[in-house]
Order: sequence, then structure tokens, then C-alpha cells
Amino acid sequence: MVIGGSMAGMAASRALASHFERVTLIERDRLPEKPELRKGLPQEQQAHGILAKAVEILEGYFPGLWQQMVTAGSNVLDMSDVALYRGGVWQARATPGLTLYIQTRTLLDSVIRSRVRELPNLQILDECEVVKPVVTSNRVAVWGVEVRRRKQEATEILEADLVVDASGRGSRMPRWLEELGLPRVEETHVRIDVGYASRKVRKLPGVTTNWKTLSIFPTAPHETRLGALAPVEGDAWLVTLAGALGDHAPGDEADFLEFARRLPQPHVYEMLRRCEPVSPVAAHKFPSNMRRHYERMTGIPEGLVVLGDAVCSLNPIYGQGMTLSVLAASLLDECLSEQPSRAMVGLGRRFQAKLSSMHDMSWTMGAGSDLVYPSVEGPRPLWWKAMQGASGHLQSLAAYDPIVTTAFAKVMHMTGSPLVLAHPSMLLRMVRGPQGQGPGAAPVMEFPETSASNAVASVG
Ligand SMILES: Cc1cc2nc3c(=O)[nH]c(=O)nc-3n(C[C@H](O)[C@H](O)[C@H](O)COP(=O)(O)OP(=O)(O)OC[C@H]3O[C@@H](n4cnc5c(N)ncnc54)[C@H](O)[C@@H]3O)c2cc1C
Repeated sequence: MVIGGSMAGMAASRALASHFERVTLIERDRLPEKPELRKGLPQEQQAHGILAKAVEILEGYFPGLWQQMVTAGSNVLDMSDVALYRGGVWQARATPGLTLYIQTRTLLDSVIRSRVRELPNLQILDECEVVKPVVTSNRVAVWGVEVRRRKQEATEILEADLVVDASGRGSRMPRWLEELGLPRVEETHVRIDVGYASRKVRKLPGVTTNWKTLSIFPTAPHETRLGALAPVEGDAWLVTLAGALGDHAPGDEADFLEFARRLPQPHVYEMLRRCEPVSPVAAHKFPSNMRRHYERMTGIPEGLVVLGDAVCSLNPIYGQGMTLSVLAASLLDECLSEQPSRAMVGLGRRFQAKLSSMHDMSWTMGAGSDLVYPSVEGPRPLWWKAMQGASGHLQSLAAYDPIVTTAFAKVMHMTGSPLVLAHPSMLLRMVRGPQGQGPGAAPVMEFPETSASNAVASVG
């Protein structure tokens, strides 16, 4: 039984389908057949980058998925098509070889959902809310969930050998466990107070750029604003703006353009000025990086696991959430393969401990980077200071060195080990610096231009 039909719930359902006779995915919303916005996924109007690691795992789970995604409207890019402004410099173009799929979150979920629906041993119960898990009288094991179907007053109980909570950051599991007499699960928060706003604009014919997608990251601690342009289905750009520490991107039409004008680089603003809006501005707020430490709890009933944003929800600007959800499903798959018997004894404990170790690295890279802002509260040990120093140095070097940009990209996409960045060859590149190349060697990112007769303005 899986609670929640978003990325974590869909991936977990697919993992469970290899181990159980029957899997039931329960979702509060109506799950549409076509790409349509829904209430339970309010963040879907914001840009959602999916990392190469998740692409790889999902293709293994649903062979041919990405071809299907392209037929449905996804754009296939190479990492070398990406313009990335990070650490106060435009990064050198990565070398080709890392494929990216770019689309709206709505399309992504819709195509994956169509594949989940095809699983022969899977049933979707949508418009059905889980009210609470049901446990044995001695409270040592979960044996099902209590649900309420839409427009019905009465609840009913559905039995299950295993219940997977993938109901997102707003998961009620902490409260449900408290009601069973357990202590409140410990939570760690690193407050970043980010406000997102996005809108779609129609691509104009003849607009030329020497990049196919572009992201401008703020340089902490003196900048807080992010801007991104992503080509999505329907020949549109999805324009996303975000601001940390209360400097929220506005949901208001006029202020949206003004916010873009004050980004560290002008490209997003220039694109917005040239394109016609095709959607209203949608805003979304994200208060803090959050972890729930189920691995530290004793006495959690057997037959229960929690994954996805319900356990770890990171500042979205690092784009890790969906990939961590897919990785968690794959970890659950692994744990179930190792499970000695059909009884679920010990599974939850083993899974939550392994999941927590898996989250450690992403937490260090995500929440750890937010600590560069002095007002963000959290521990800053010596190793953190050394890591930030090395990372800043590598980012400056990436302005000149495609090898460094490529290594960075692979680590960010979780297809390369972070240890690569500490490899002697990389350290040598750091010591040598830009190898005598002056700023003239820095990459040039063109402004969008609408016709060949316009002079192409460029910045270094
Ligand atoms: C602004 C923003 C931008 C983001 N950008 C990115 C990005 O670029 N890349 C990336 O990888 N991630 C990004 N994320 C994170 C990403 O959206 C999540 O990590 C991802 O959706 C996985 O979450 P989830 O499936 O655990 O939970 P959610 O997506 O929150 O889904 C939970 C589901 O459970 C359902 N549900 C809840 N309670 C119940 C109940 N009691 N009964 C039945 N159903 C229930 C909800 O309706 C919902 O469908 C972003 C997040 C935000 C906020």
C-alpha cells in the first residue's frame, strides 16, 4: 500500500510491484489521464529539473520511458547546451555526453503515471485519502490503512503487508505515530525562506542563442536571486525566478519582470522582454531544508516505511528532490530483495537507516551550501569551511576549464562520485589555475536576439 501518487509514490509503487502480488497506490487527488495541474502538487508549475541518475533508474523501471517522454514533448539536450552562471562566473561549456530531458513537471508525472497504470499487479485508488495507518492491538505492526473516499463520510480499512508513506513534506506520519504513544520524530531544519515564481512564455520564431537552457545562480552571501529558462513542451520557455532569505520572487505580473531585471545577469530579463506570456505567474514558497530522523526512532511499528519529501525535503534550487525519491524507491527495492522472508520484520529499521545515510551527502551539498549565508542557522564545522573553500575555487576554475565543469555536472547529476573532485588530477588543475588563459577565454553567453538583422549582444 503506497500513500501518495507523486514521484516518490510512483517510483515506490514500481519497486514494490516486483516483490508483491498486489500493490495499491492511494492518492487524495483525482489523477488525470492527460497532463493536467492538480491540487496536491502545487509546486508543479515551477521548473523541475530531473537529474541524470533518476533518468537512468526510471528507464530501468520503465523501458522506453524517455523515448515516450520525447514523443510527448520533452526536449533532449546535452550538458554542453547548458549555460550556467554560478559562483559569479559563466562556467565553461561541459564536454558533450550527459543527456538531459527537459519538460514541465506536469508532463513528467503524466507520462510516468501512464506507465505505472500499465503495471498488471497495480491498482490506483485516487480521490481517496489515507486517514491513518491501522496497527495490531499491541501496536508492534501496521496491517493496513484507514481511508476515506471522496464525498463519503464513512471510512474503510484496507489491509496490507507493507505500508509506504510517500505523502510528501506535509506527511501526517509524525502525528499518527505520536497518537500511537511514540515520541515525536526528531526534525532538523535549515531555514532558507525561498520564494519561487514561474510563468510560461511563447518562444518567438527566429530567436537565436548559443545555449538551449540557462540558469543564473546567486553568489552567496551577497546575492539571493536565481533565474532560469527551460525549453518545455508546446514551444514555450518556462521562466523561473526565485529568491532566498525572504527576497521572494513575486507572483504579481509587473513585479515579476522587475525582479528578473535585477538578477545578477540580464539574459532572463532580455528573454522575457522579447517573448509573449502564455500562462499567469504562479508562486510557491519553501521555508526550510528539512529532515525527519525516523532512523533515530525506536518502536516504529513493523511493516511501515517512509520515503521521499516526507523524510527529506531540500532547497529546490539544487534540484535533488525527485532524484532522491527515485533513489529511495530503488533502495527499498534492494532492501526487499535482501529481506529473508515475506514477513516485514526489521525491514523498516534497515531501510530508514540506509535512507538516512543516502541523504547525508545531498544534505551536505544542499542545506550545507545554504549555510554560506551568515543569517542561516546551522553548524559550520571546520570540514564544512574547507569544503566550501574548495568548492568556490573549483567553481572559479570551471569558468575556464570544461573538464572541471563536466566533473561538476556529473557530481551534481549523481552519476559521478564527489571524490572525483578531490582526485589528484583535479587538485593539479586547481593549483595550476586557468593555465595562463585570460578572461578572454571565458565563455560568451549570447543574449536572445529576435532577428538576424539585430546585432548580437554578448557578455563574457
Ligand atoms: C518550488 C519547488 C521546486 C522544485 N524543483 C525541483 C527540481 O527542479 N527538481 C527536483 O528533483 N525536485 C524539485 N522539487 C522537489 C519535488 O517537487 C519533490 O521532491 C517531489 O515531488 C517528490 O516528492 P514526494 O513524491 O515525496 O511528495 P509530493 O510531491 O509532495 O507528493 C505527495 C503526494 O501525496 C498525496 N497525499 C498527501 N497526503 C495524502 C493522504 N493522506 N492520502 C492520500 N494521498 C496523500 C498528495 O496529494 C501528493 O500527490 C521542487 C519542489 C518545490 C517546492
